[in-house]
Amino acid sequence: MAAPAAPGRVLPTLNEDGTRRWLRPKPSSGAWYSRRVVVAWLLIFVYIAIPHIYINGKPAMLLDLQRREFTFVGTTFLPTDTLLLMLLAISVVIGVFLASALAGRVWCGWACPQTVYMEFVYRPIERLFEGGPRGSLQLDREMKHFHPRRLAKLAVYFVLSSFLAHTFLAYFVGWDQVMHWAFGSPNAHPVGFAIVTMTTIAMLLDFTYFREQTCMVACPYGRWQSALLDNDSLIVAYDYNRGEPRGKGKDRTGKGDCVDCQACVTTCPTGIDIRNGLQMECIHCTQCMDACDAVMDKVGKPKGLIRYSSRAALAGKGKHFLRTRTVMYPVAFAVVFGAFLYQLTHKDAADVTLLGPAGAPFMLEPNGNVVNQFRVRVANRTGTDHAYRVDVTGDDDMKVIAPLSPLTVKPGHTETMPVFVTLPADDFEEGVKSVKVTITDGAAYTGTFEYRLAGPMHDTDDRHERRDRGKDHK
Ligand code: SF4
Ligand code: SF4
Repeated sequence: MAAPAAPGRVLPTLNEDGTRRWLRPKPSSGAWYSRRVVVAWLLIFVYIAIPHIYINGKPAMLLDLQRREFTFVGTTFLPTDTLLLMLLAISVVIGVFLASALAGRVWCGWACPQTVYMEFVYRPIERLFEGGPRGSLQLDREMKHFHPRRLAKLAVYFVLSSFLAHTFLAYFVGWDQVMHWAFGSPNAHPVGFAIVTMTTIAMLLDFTYFREQTCMVACPYGRWQSALLDNDSLIVAYDYNRGEPRGKGKDRTGKGDCVDCQACVTTCPTGIDIRNGLQMECIHCTQCMDACDAVMDKVGKPKGLIRYSSRAALAGKGKHFLRTRTVMYPVAFAVVFGAFLYQLTHKDAADVTLLGPAGAPFMLEPNGNVVNQFRVRVANRTGTDHAYRVDVTGDDDMKVIAPLSPLTVKPGHTETMPVFVTLPADDFEEGVKSVKVTITDGAAYTGTFEYRLAGPMHDTDDRHERRDRGKDHK
């Protein structure tokens, strides 16, 4: 027995019988589309160019997940830069909050790579091969999924997705590595080959199959929308006061300006009807604005029945730029981003961490001396090689062995060297001896740290007695 049909459409991309409703939006040329084309192609150029741009000898952007190092605009953040990265991440989040409060989902509609590639690369190719939205719908109706035109489109999609996958991966491993994977034998680097293949398939599936589902189901931003926007945020909105009651026909007596032509619906890439108000699926792409403006032109009405406005303005409550969130977000952004810039400009030329022993806290030699082992981890933040020397002071009887000192560290790299410190057991007070560890490259960096060596606990009187006995023997 067939499942009972849902009472009306539940989702814009779901038919009442539960099957996928494929969207073949009709393109709408107009003033907003022209602006978006310029922005989109500028962004496509930027997205593709970024992995090839170098600043101070470093990529403009490299998210090296394996080494947990992130490079932005020529500055590398090392795994130890937790505070810096946290401040940067919070700044970005506050920036998104502020942009949303002011201009709604401007990122989704104008700049998100998903929208930009889908609407300005993949969909135009689809229209070219399938004969526009009508041709695509015809193929859908006739279920000609393997029609030669569709297969040809898929072949072009595959090449494009492969290129985008390589570009995307270059953000994480660098362009040289991607080229090495691309042109080397798969046998020589099976993991790299698998990563490239899987990313290409993911891109192809995203732009061929998932499409608007990525925005509506996978991306959390739309779901945050109700929290990020307020009544005064700029959104793409239908002026219901002017448009309602909607109705077809030349006789407009008692009717609003909406002629119920559905042009705003058939052009929508997420399949919604903007006249139903602000919806989670609306990515604020402005296509319905162009579609409706063209209709208004035809029927001799002023443009802007669908326009950038706010819910407060549409309800006749005026425009309010200054609101709690448009004051608080910039203040919070200034504080957090200011702290980030301060930290960034005041960080040392090296990042040094003293790491305790991995096993036992100390060892006892047959002669009773105590051996401590610790490690010095050095991250070189400068742009040149530096050799770091380690010195330990604080006890005249101390013997220090640092077999790797001086340790050469490449720019942006992190290296670790072991240090062995031997002391007579008597030099420990309550099982502890504090020493000073100095690390220096003799030029850009010198840092001194206190380190507590561990030793055996013994009774203080015993120790003094043994020391006195030692004196008597002399
Ligand atoms: S309702 Fe308009 S602005 Fe929103 S996604 Fe659809 S076409 Fe774009
Ligand atoms: S395009 Fe404009 S006139 Fe046509 S249905 Fe949409 S809002 Fe109404």
